Formats: sequence, structure tokens, C-alpha cells
Amino acid sequence: MSFARLVIAGGLAGVSLGSCAEVVPQAQIAPTPPPTIVRDIPSPKRLSFALEGALTQGGLVIGSAPSDTAQLTLDAVPVEMAADGRFVIGFGRDRTAPAKLVATLADGRTVTETLAIARRDWILENLTTLPKTSLPSATFQRLREPELVAMGATRALRPVSQGWRQRFAWPATGRISGWFGSQRIYRGEPGAFHNGVDVAVPTGTPLLAPADGVVMLATDHPFTTEGNMIMIGHGMGLVSTFLHLSRIDVRTGDVVRRGQMLGATGATGRATGPHMHWGMRWNDERIDPQLLAGPMPVAGAAPGTP
Ligand SMILES: [Zn+2]
Repeated sequence: MSFARLVIAGGLAGVSLGSCAEVVPQAQIAPTPPPTIVRDIPSPKRLSFALEGALTQGGLVIGSAPSDTAQLTLDAVPVEMAADGRFVIGFGRDRTAPAKLVATLADGRTVTETLAIARRDWILENLTTLPKTSLPSATFQRLREPELVAMGATRALRPVSQGWRQRFAWPATGRISGWFGSQRIYRGEPGAFHNGVDVAVPTGTPLLAPADGVVMLATDHPFTTEGNMIMIGHGMGLVSTFLHLSRIDVRTGDVVRRGQMLGATGATGRATGPHMHWGMRWNDERIDPQLLAGPMPVAGAAPGTP
């Protein structure tokens, strides 16, 4: 439960206390500050949702549920809610339909809010060639299967962290070289969209945790496609993934703090050059990290500075 701070200041001098009290004129009150009483009282009830964030494709929204919410759903799917009524919802890259957020209160009443999800223009690149991927070799397939199993098992984890409440910081700063949602079209056939943001930084650049979290996966060898990879759970189903690392400084299960060194960027796995790839998910929805981290700080500024 949240509490509002009620400050009762100034004692009662100068206030009429009824017919039997002597009223002291204001001018005669001593200038010394009177004692201040601070009391916690319950805040007024919230009757509707409070939402903060980007109501757009790839956007993440932090909300507060109405008071006495017993259950929360987004499009009829239950949404996890913290004890203080705060929650997280996100919208994938191709979301177009409005979202329906429903709070069922303890007394059975419901509060419904329909959210319009703004569309974005994605960077599309039309190519007259075919994708460079050839049929996977037997070796690739043999290596790939356990990698997919490991990543799938990791995504099923739901570590507890309060990182989702924080303001996210850029894990490395530099020129953005790849945008979330961008897509190549090969002779009219769309390829998979880019599911993160790329920042062009040299191999060995420190990679800092964008927010508090729990290391869900820190690979012990480079995966065929992702290279050395870290997945950080920020709580509430919000997960950051970093690919192509040259070095990993954390281990699976570690609790990390915002700004903590996780490792160093690189070009391991399938990468055309050294860069930081930062992907985010809220449950199964792909989220644009750039919307959370905000404008890239100017060169030379510490990561995370607004
Ligand atoms: Zn990328």
C-alpha cells in the first residue's frame, strides 16, 4: 500500500480553539519554527489506471492499477502486478489492434481501459538478391539444437528483480547502426525484422547493465548465431539480451546492478563487425530498447546520463 505524507505544521498557535480559548494575535507568535508532526495516512483511492511509457509498436508501459485491484488482464491474459499495484505491459513490433486493459476489483467491479497503439514507420530495405543464408550444414544443425534448447529454457525463467521500475541506461554509447524493427525485403520476400538496437562500438567496449536484474543466461561458449550472449531478467517478464560479446564477466544466477560491468562488446557469432546488439522482450513481445533508454548521450558522457 502506498502512503501519502501528511505534514501537520505549526502547532495551533493563532488558531481559535473554541469559545474558552484565548486567541493569540498572529503578530505575537514567536518566530522560532514550531515542531513538525509527520504522520503516514493512506493515500486516496485510485479509481483509474495511471500509465507511463510509449503506447506504440515496440513500446513498454509502466502502470499503476486502480486501488483494490485483485486481478489484471491485458487482452484477457493475466498480467503480473506488484504489491503496490504497479505493473508492466508491452506491445510488439506489428501490434495494430487496440489493447484492452481490465482490472477486476476485490468487490467484483471492473475498470476497463482501451489503449490505442500508435503505428511506426519501419526502415525497409528492398534487395534484388536472395538472403545469404544457405541451408544449414549438418555441423551447424548439430550445434544449433542445444543452443535453441538452452535459449528456450532460459526464456521460461521468471527471475524476481525490481529493475523494471528503474530508468534504463544505454549499456554502451556510440553511433546507432541498426534500428529495432528494420527489415530487409529479398525480391519481395520479407526477412525477419531486426529485433534489437545496434550500437557501433569497438571490440572490448565495456557493456554495462541498463538496469538491475538477474543473469538468466551467460553462455560459456560462443553460440553459432548469437556468439557470446547474456540475458538479464529485470522482473515482470522484462528481459534484455546482449549478443556478439567478446568477453563475459558475469555468471548465470548473478544479481547485477544498474551500471555494473557485464562484459565487453565484440563480433562473435554471426556479426558483420563489432557492435553491441541489445534486444528486449516483455514476455513474448519484442520491445524497442531505444524507447526505454532515450536519446543517446553525447560522446564522452557517462552511459546513462540523460
Ligand atoms: Zn543487431
